[in-house]
Amino acid sequence: SNPTIKRALLSVSDKTGILELAKALAEQGVEILSTGGTAKLLSEKGLVVKEVSSHTGFPEIMDGRVKTLHPKIHGGILARRDLQSHLDAMKEHGIGAIDLVAVNLYPFDKATAGDKVKLEDAIENIDIGGPAMVRASAKNYTGVTIIVDPSDYGKVIDEIKANSGATTLKTRSGLAAKAYAHTARYDGAIAAFLTSLQGTEGVLEDTPTRAEYPEVLSMQFHKVQDMRYGENPHQSAAFYREAKAPVGLLANYRQLQGKELSFNNIADSDAAWECVKTFEAAACVIIKHANPCGVAVAEGPLNAYHKAFKTDPTSAFGGIIAFNRSVDESTAQAVAKQFVEVVIAPAFDESARAVFAAKQNVRLLEIPVETGMHKFDYKRVGGGLLVQSPDERNVQQSEIKVVSKRQPTEQQWNDLMFAWRCAKFVKSNAIVFCKDGMTMGVGAGQMSRVDSARIASIKAQNAGLTLADSAVASDAFFPFRDGLDVVVDAGASCVIQPGGSMRDEEVISAADERDIVMVLTGVRHFRH
Ligand code: 5GP
Repeated sequence: SNPTIKRALLSVSDKTGILELAKALAEQGVEILSTGGTAKLLSEKGLVVKEVSSHTGFPEIMDGRVKTLHPKIHGGILARRDLQSHLDAMKEHGIGAIDLVAVNLYPFDKATAGDKVKLEDAIENIDIGGPAMVRASAKNYTGVTIIVDPSDYGKVIDEIKANSGATTLKTRSGLAAKAYAHTARYDGAIAAFLTSLQGTEGVLEDTPTRAEYPEVLSMQFHKVQDMRYGENPHQSAAFYREAKAPVGLLANYRQLQGKELSFNNIADSDAAWECVKTFEAAACVIIKHANPCGVAVAEGPLNAYHKAFKTDPTSAFGGIIAFNRSVDESTAQAVAKQFVEVVIAPAFDESARAVFAAKQNVRLLEIPVETGMHKFDYKRVGGGLLVQSPDERNVQQSEIKVVSKRQPTEQQWNDLMFAWRCAKFVKSNAIVFCKDGMTMGVGAGQMSRVDSARIASIKAQNAGLTLADSAVASDAFFPFRDGLDVVVDAGASCVIQPGGSMRDEEVISAADERDIVMVLTGVRHFRH
């Protein structure tokens, strides 16, 4: 039941390996049909090929827009070999069966890769006849062998030789699956390109509108690496990079040294990098299990690191450390004293590289500091995908309302603004104590805000840090005054929070009763 291959159609844009395939088919006595460019190449190399146009009796027209879209081609591909009525139709209309089809599509991806793409060129690179043949052949895989990937030529030829001129059904069905993946990806690239042109004169708005969301489904990802395992050793995993990811994002890292990145390394590195990037001053962020266990700004990276480390030296062990400035020798020496998984920075000085060279397990990632943001955040849920625009909001001091009787001093404003930036990167419920440009206690990922507040103050105590006169940020409002009382008891003298609770009044009067500063951002930063 495996049909002997008697006629093949070769029509490829990527001409890699096509000559070898044609030669091998010719040796097997297969008649070769081919389109303009492919036919030219093959006949120049001395192969006997029949142009599709002479096979159909119809010329290629409209600059190649219509080449193979003809019943003699599609009938020859689609006819069921096991159905008499189909065989009769072939006979009646003089259609010959086409048993093998090798097609790969116009290079739409390449044609639209740069910034200066002409719409007209992009449109001409939308292949019509190619996908039609690929899909028709794949639909009829019981009778037809479809090859879209030049790296499959060799395998198919070997099989034909070993199998008296035919491929096996198993091979044909595998190739058919690959064929549909090829056309799906192709249409995805076209959809993504055309979607990117929507909006004002080809310029995309900052926040994606709802209408842009369908793009998610056609977004192009390329595999960067397979991983040894996922979040846990019994899970498998791979890392994919978005085809058009802005330069400053984690996926564009350059690894200078160290072991292969693990799944958790990459997830935590992303958290570290996104956080450290938001500071204008020299900053250092230490991440453990997706949460910052130390964030600080200082004169330079070395001092920023010392301060960030002080927040929680116990947790910093085995952490991921990010800088928004080049790492110099002294910073490298300080960092190299602790157990660290990954160090990320826009650059590493030669001398810093030399320090880390003695610790080959440490992964060094270089990423340029650029403000680019990804367009979408995803969260997998059972049977679906939640998609949202990223949390890009950075509240300015001028937008913040002082609601307490007591007014913040300049020092308090600085601490409050710093604390607010940090809280955005802490899993909810987040309570973050800060002072003098460093985190003093971080309460993360608790189900109750009051527990986060307690944990933050306990952690500060454990690290030997005093919270007297500190600033506190809460990623969402205080639903009751209890959380507020905990942070004031711990020593906070000013609090920043979104506000908007039913009991705002109760919470604000509690702040006045405790004689502290309270400011409201009107913006919430849940992070899950
Ligand atoms: P060639 O270089 O042989 O002239 O053209 C090969 C390319 O043409 C292949 O990428 C194939 O997918 C594409 N192609 C084949 N038939 C048609 C058709 O009828 N219309 C269009 N637009 N492209 C076709």
